Amino acid sequence: MSILVTGGAGYIGAHTVWELAEAGRDVVVADNLSTGFRAAVHPKARFYALDIRDRAALDGLFEAERIDGVIHFAASSQVAESMADPLKYYDNNLHGTMVLLSAMVSHGVKRLVFSSTAAVYGEPERVPILETDRTVPTNTYGETKLSMERMMAWVSRAHGLSYVALRYFNACGAHPSGLIGEAHDPETHLIPIILQVPNGQREKLTIYGGDYPTPDGTCVRDYIHVTDLAQAHILALDYLMAGGANNVFNLGNGAGFSNREVVAAARRVTGHSIPAVIGPRRAGDPSRLVASSEKARSVLGWDPKFADLEAIIATAWVWHKSHPRGYGA
Ligand code: UDP
Repeated sequence: MSILVTGGAGYIGAHTVWELAEAGRDVVVADNLSTGFRAAVHPKARFYALDIRDRAALDGLFEAERIDGVIHFAASSQVAESMADPLKYYDNNLHGTMVLLSAMVSHGVKRLVFSSTAAVYGEPERVPILETDRTVPTNTYGETKLSMERMMAWVSRAHGLSYVALRYFNACGAHPSGLIGEAHDPETHLIPIILQVPNGQREKLTIYGGDYPTPDGTCVRDYIHVTDLAQAHILALDYLMAGGANNVFNLGNGAGFSNREVVAAARRVTGHSIPAVIGPRRAGDPSRLVASSEKARSVLGWDPKFADLEAIIATAWVWHKSHPRGYGA
């Protein structure tokens, strides 16, 4: 029996494939390589270069492999891009998930772990955020991820598929081996952008917004290590395999760090002064996102290992220093 990981060449997908393969699971990866990297895929995984919107290609995969469960990462995931080009997000995320689900139904594959996001909450009514809190996305990315969750709920009712949606907060860090890590082109995420300064790739960074209603005026986020996220997917899969019901879990550290605090932590890790200036706000950014992950801890037995922001940034720094051009290095 095999696990299909869609988007398994992307950042979080590749780290999940790595953990699955190292745990001895049989893994199949489907990725169109639009933002993922073939070199990020664990050598033990079988790789299919396909787009999940291509139903015939998906049918071929499900016929060739004996897929027992799917972990679904394949999606566009940039907040700013989703505001500039919303229809791309409806097509890649919603339409892609629709085609995947219909193929799963046709081929009798009944378990799905879904890569969702804290962006489904929008501007939270309180922090830490609980899974039962209201969901009012402030960007197209979060809107499409919430719609994907809802699609799964309706398909589950009709076709007996069971699913877990994992709402991640800010994924960061790299595999402790330094073999795989974060690589986006263009890079938009805070920690890799910060590390481009000590890596000699930019002179300074711009912090988007200094007038948010937070203690230092910059946005607050909950940073969770990518390897801890990867482990949660395996636990969620095992939960479904053991007969667990449809569920939704937040995944975060439960601690908020402001953008200024993240820059300060990176200065300590790298020993570089990392100049930073305050610029205008970025469209669609909520001021404060911090998770309550108590449910994942109690129901899934999730036990994240990286609680310390500097330790997380240190793993990212090892990766970026040794791969200044990502997988092209
Ligand atoms: N951010 C920033 N400068 C940058 C990139 C990001 O100030 O060059 C901020 C961004 O506005 C947000 C935080 O860093 O407040 C985290 O953004 P990121 O894109 O890493 O993740 P998101 O929270 O959007 O998922």
